[in-house]
Amino acid sequence: MLKSALLLTFTLAACTRAGAPDISSYAAEHDGLSRLCNNPALLGEVLDDISNGQCGIDNPVAVHVVAGVELSTPATLNCRTANSLANWVENDAQDAVKNLRSRITGMRVLASYACRTRNSQSGARLSEHALGNAIDFGSFTLANGTVLSIEDDWRRRNKEGTAIRALVDSACGPFGTVLGPDADRFHQDNLHLDTAEYRGGAYCR
Ligand SMILES: [Zn+2]
Repeated sequence: MLKSALLLTFTLAACTRAGAPDISSYAAEHDGLSRLCNNPALLGEVLDDISNGQCGIDNPVAVHVVAGVELSTPATLNCRTANSLANWVENDAQDAVKNLRSRITGMRVLASYACRTRNSQSGARLSEHALGNAIDFGSFTLANGTVLSIEDDWRRRNKEGTAIRALVDSACGPFGTVLGPDADRFHQDNLHLDTAEYRGGAYCR
């Protein structure tokens, strides 16, 4: 009797989570992925420290899944940036695309850790990518099959354009730097997000 009451309680508790991404079942389906950075929303692999001249990351992680959203390729980041990504996806990104009556299920990663200068220009300052502080996205796939692309949808005056601009806006806050097509010629087809902190506050274009 007590046992069945406990089971019922457990079942009801599980039901209240319906609608939230089922991270535990994803982990079960993808053997070998670990919870990262003490954050249940982050699944992937713990990596060895990276050190390469001025570039590198202490305690890097390779993020595969963020709040139930699958990354197209694992993103190598530090935990501060991985946690910012989880915070954005969980609390802001899904809400930003709600006018499309669907959910983000996949994100196309164009870059994460890379030992290079800003925009790969010779003589430029070291990129935040070289410290594991940055990630670039090209497009976002929704559960209904829609793909929102930075390059194709940014300037469209339709609901997809509205959604992707809202999505980019929503990253300002979780990330201190947000660079999209309105920033410069280097970001016409990608969204750059990083967690660098500047005295002037967030820089979002
Ligand atoms: Zn970038």
